[in-house]
Amino acid sequence: MLLAGKVALVTGSSRGIGRAIALAMAKEGCQVAVNYVGNEEKAKGLCEEIGSLGGKALPFKADVSRWDEAKTLVDGVLASFGRVDILVNNAGITRDNLLLRLSLDDWEEVLRTNLTGVYNCTKLVLKPMIKQRWGRIINITSVSGITGNPGQSNYAAAKAGLIGFTKSLAKEVASRNILVNGIAPGFIATDMTEKLVKEGQEELAAAIPLGRLGSPEEIAHVAVFLASEKAGYITGQIITVDGGLTM
Ligand code: NAP
Repeated sequence: MLLAGKVALVTGSSRGIGRAIALAMAKEGCQVAVNYVGNEEKAKGLCEEIGSLGGKALPFKADVSRWDEAKTLVDGVLASFGRVDILVNNAGITRDNLLLRLSLDDWEEVLRTNLTGVYNCTKLVLKPMIKQRWGRIINITSVSGITGNPGQSNYAAAKAGLIGFTKSLAKEVASRNILVNGIAPGFIATDMTEKLVKEGQEELAAAIPLGRLGSPEEIAHVAVFLASEKAGYITGQIITVDGGLTM
């Protein structure tokens, strides 16, 4: 078991990539706080699934983009599990449009969720991690933040910002044995990409050297590795998992 005795908070883990990460971490012996914003049934379902495998997971409703809710979330995790060792900043949304048509609301909502949400949760877990002299922070960014993507100026700005955040924080907390890394997925089959896939599955697959979309589990494997002792000499890195899309 790679994560025995650890406690992880995975934001946005009721569905998609976050769900796969929570499950994969639980299978490695980690206790998991499953955060969601609306989908209570799915979050509870995942906790039950983890319980049936002999693990421990609890659901926590919180909109991570709001400081007060993020604080209640982290306080709740600390009260329930007694510690937090791993934070996976995964919660994210898209509001795609060309800039000329992009409303200020859609600009701000994406930045608030995908970037300010990370500020909120990370700042809140940092003190306990510093105290225990051990921590892993894993930020789910995107290839959009590396290459840019038409129709995603808001999302790409947030994800590029998250890459800068990852590297800066990694430098701030390395001396406290807290490692901060990012994963930049390409196209992964989740609710987020469902519409895109329906509209142009073949075209999409043709642009990817490996010829297919990735699965949430293929991101989860990397997250488990980065959270484990095996990744003890890796910090400030962004690992791209994209089937060769951006090479
Ligand atoms: P998804 O299937 O749409 O799931 C999003 C998850 O985030 C859900 O669990 C949702 O909770 C939660 N969430 C949304 N807003 C939240 C908020 N304000 N507070 C707390 N939780 C919130 O998305 P996904 O495809 O798994 O994406 C996960 C992460 O990977 C995102 O950061 C995304 O940008 C990134 N990513 C995805 C892809 C891809 O191809 N799918 C590629 C690159 C990067 P509810 O279920 O309660 O709504």
